[in-house]
Amino acid sequence: MASFKMIINGKRIGAKESFVSLNPANEKPIAIFPKGTADDVKAAIGAAEEAYEKWSRVPPPARAQILLRAAQILRREKQSLGRLVTMEMGKVLAEGLGDVQEAIDIFEYMAGEGRRLFGHTTTSELPDKLAMTVRAPVGVMGLITPWNFPMAIPAWKLAPCIVCGNAAVFKPASDTPLCALRIVEILERAGLPPGVVNLVTGPGGSVGSEIVKNKGIRGISFTGSRDVGEFVVKNAGIKKVGLELGGKNGIIVMDDADLRLALDGVIWGAFGTTGQRCTAASRVIVHSGVKEKFERMLLESMAKLRLGDGLKKADVGPLINKAAAEKVHGYVEVGMEEGARLASGGHPAKVNGKGFFYQPTLFTDVATDMRIAQEEIFGPVLCLIEAASLDHAIDAMNSVTYGLSSSIYTKDIRSAMVAVRAIEAGLVYVNSSTIGSEVHLPFGGVKQTGNGAREGGIEGINEFSETKTVYIDYSGKLQKAQIDTG
Ligand code: NAD
Repeated sequence: MASFKMIINGKRIGAKESFVSLNPANEKPIAIFPKGTADDVKAAIGAAEEAYEKWSRVPPPARAQILLRAAQILRREKQSLGRLVTMEMGKVLAEGLGDVQEAIDIFEYMAGEGRRLFGHTTTSELPDKLAMTVRAPVGVMGLITPWNFPMAIPAWKLAPCIVCGNAAVFKPASDTPLCALRIVEILERAGLPPGVVNLVTGPGGSVGSEIVKNKGIRGISFTGSRDVGEFVVKNAGIKKVGLELGGKNGIIVMDDADLRLALDGVIWGAFGTTGQRCTAASRVIVHSGVKEKFERMLLESMAKLRLGDGLKKADVGPLINKAAAEKVHGYVEVGMEEGARLASGGHPAKVNGKGFFYQPTLFTDVATDMRIAQEEIFGPVLCLIEAASLDHAIDAMNSVTYGLSSSIYTKDIRSAMVAVRAIEAGLVYVNSSTIGSEVHLPFGGVKQTGNGAREGGIEGINEFSETKTVYIDYSGKLQKAQIDTG
């Protein structure tokens, strides 16, 4: 089995202890990685601080060239990288390739920012004075990522981080370190100087928490669970912190909806990526007028889903690891205890005797206050909630503490527009599933899904830059704002 190292200041660094990354479809080990320590994080911060001095002064269009070259390499190697995503994370190959494509898209988009990074100019209240804002880098940033988009999420952070002139200490999830290593290697191959991005692998509790707490880190971009997100805000001290956390996303299906279209959206939203997307639809809120019919359609469609290794013919891959399969099953038991009706699935599964698979599962007769309707399960478990009206459906949608993605299927423009206004979420889709973000639009959530940060699009630049306000007074005398004009 191949053994890999961390990358600190461009050098390959090992550690005393190691951990193994597994293929969740067949439980076979893929690679051995060093279990980094807090000292490795400190060394990475030192390297980043040094690299930052020069990197922050490289003109942004030149920084952008590196992103463009990295995008070209990703494009050339898309097939093998997509297979790696499937092998290490478990999502089916079409989605593994999609993960790489998303990385290509964000690298290309953020390369364009190299020639924008807009500030604004404005008037001054005093004569012969120019007022404007410019973007400045934050400094050394800590990037902490989950495993469910093992190439795309690192790319969502690395691309704006680099183009804005920051240096970084990057800690990926321990389930998908090889995908993370590959993306850093590609940046090196594209010409990124040593020390600008340093990869430290290892546990969240030691490597991650050192990144969070260390005062050398000026900004943190974290994507992961709400609980760890809470740890980050409580322990980061005074730093710029961007949080992208969990979701309990819902799809409303109204009685006037195109039910075929809605069915495709619900199946894709709930069972795509085995329900392991922050934007997965884990609740479908169905109008009473079509509830029975839609439930029948769902069950028919779910029966056709093929569980299996994502590199073979499969629609639904495995969960990420054994603990995830146990967690999902625990929630299924909770749902049954709470009195929801298990209409389909409800069991772990093996394919060829192996893998952390779970049958696509549907609960009906779900009440909004049940735990299965409130908590993020992060697996292929869909809760059907009945709603008597649009208002009732929107209340059900908003009854959770999360607010990431949402959707409504209806042919009525008024229902659609009321939902767009009233749903509390960072993303609202009309007649489309809860998933499918495009990189040039902002991505992020409200309520306990985050702290207001957005990734992607122009707003994605805010997380990785500071706004500096500049006044240039060419009057040749002391001018006092508010006093000379008062
Ligand atoms: P997680 O919170 O367990 O881990 C995320 C990262 O944090 C990992 O790298 C982990 O090692 C690290 N970590 C763990 N403990 C830490 C600590 N004490 N200090 C610092 N870092 C620590 O999440 P996960 O299981 O990897 O990912 C699934 C979660 O991520 C879900 O809740 C999902 O909704 C969320 N997610 C959110 C988005 C979004 O954009 N909103 C996108 C993808 C995933």
